[in-house]
Amino acid sequence: MMQEYTQGNCWYECIRGCGKRYSIFDVVYHCEDCGGLLEVKHDLDILRQRSASEWKAAFNQRIFSTAWPYGSGVWGKKEWICPLVADDNIVSTYEGNSNLFWAQRFGKELGMDDLWIKLCGNSHTGSFKDLGMTVLVSVVNQMIRDGQPLRAIACASTGDTSAALAAYGAAAGIPTVILLPKAKVSTAQLIQPIANGATVLSLDTDFDGCMAIVQQLTQDPSIYLANSLNSLRIEGQKTVGIEIVQQFDWEVPDWIILPSGNLGNVRALGNGLLMMKELGLINRLPRIACAQAENANPLYRSYLSGFKEFEPAPAKKTLASAIQIGNPVSYERARQTLIDFDGVVEQASEAELANTCAQADRTGLYCCPHTGVALASLKKLLLKGVIKPTERVVVISTAHGLKFSQFKVDYHHNQLAGIDAVYANPPQELPATYAAVQAAIKNLYSSPSGEVGRGL
Ligand SMILES: *Cc1c(COP(=O)(O)O)cnc(C)c1O
Ligand SMILES: [Zn+2]
Repeated sequence: MMQEYTQGNCWYECIRGCGKRYSIFDVVYHCEDCGGLLEVKHDLDILRQRSASEWKAAFNQRIFSTAWPYGSGVWGKKEWICPLVADDNIVSTYEGNSNLFWAQRFGKELGMDDLWIKLCGNSHTGSFKDLGMTVLVSVVNQMIRDGQPLRAIACASTGDTSAALAAYGAAAGIPTVILLPKAKVSTAQLIQPIANGATVLSLDTDFDGCMAIVQQLTQDPSIYLANSLNSLRIEGQKTVGIEIVQQFDWEVPDWIILPSGNLGNVRALGNGLLMMKELGLINRLPRIACAQAENANPLYRSYLSGFKEFEPAPAKKTLASAIQIGNPVSYERARQTLIDFDGVVEQASEAELANTCAQADRTGLYCCPHTGVALASLKKLLLKGVIKPTERVVVISTAHGLKFSQFKVDYHHNQLAGIDAVYANPPQELPATYAAVQAAIKNLYSSPSGEVGRGL
């Protein structure tokens, strides 16, 4: 039986190692001494009151639990994420616990047999942003109930962050303010915060421009900042790596690949895995590959310089709109994670991401363009011999393809500028006759080996 467990503790600490600490209930985003980013640290001695196998048993047991809020993939690991929020103050949509899809057919096309896709887009608002937003909004909810004078939560967004913030804010009854780059997010993404009642402000700039304004806006301490500069988001997103390992019965895969823009998620992935290693749940680390769009590749360029240089530059337009970021706020965090995990960075062109998305969709997936960037990067890393076809690889799919319907419509009508849509599958228009329909399907076949085709 598990021993009595003392309430855990966590705090913000400057990542530059100057030692400065703050309460997670303070409205603070940077170290006031040296300007460094802050990160949540946990009292690991308290967590060591439970052995690795006791933690594994507890985490396994809580999946689908009806005991609020432990059935959530994030809050099922509450002691590791945010032990200081009261269960009653938690704002959760039972996020996390998303499917790990065995990409058997797609893997086979790449010569692999151990390829898995972590479907983080199968979530309340359709992206992994829910994992972090539940923690941030829960902490704010507790601050408000404790009487702190907060008026609203605000974020700049390429789409998915705003959808998550608006939904969690609405669930808790907390006003939200969304700054979006005009005409740079999909209709499906724009409509989510509108529907959830957020104050949506569409600005004639890019994401980096919105980010600069929201940072000014949140200098007013009654407007709380929800971008991933705020490390509460990272605490929730940290569960993705833990969940992946848990879904392999606590075996560590060889590689985890994820599309990266503002670079908070790669840090979160790394932090969760490092915590597992420190607490003895695993004894080795996977390697991490960050995938960037060629049109928004500051991390890739820095990687080519051995991380000696970092040159932000305005991002060019990319179909992978959620990672169209030229000046990632978490560069410093991501750099360290890539060093710790013997990481690599790859990039994908617009044609590569669009065609790879469509290729993967033909094997039963429904990929967002960012997942396309990650899958196209996987192909290139296989060709370069960096990733071996026998290795176990997990690709993090960051959003649901349904949020990017226009991208898929344009692709399948071969209407994406400059892209030859090699897998385009437009509907065939036929006269309404039995003969015409029969003729259209007469060459379809399937076979016991799993081959599917259309004949000649
Ligand atoms: C936010 C987002 C990313 C990028 O995550 P970062 O933490 O900014 O690197 C990738 N894909 C999707 C769909 C996203 O919403
Ligand atoms: Zn500092």
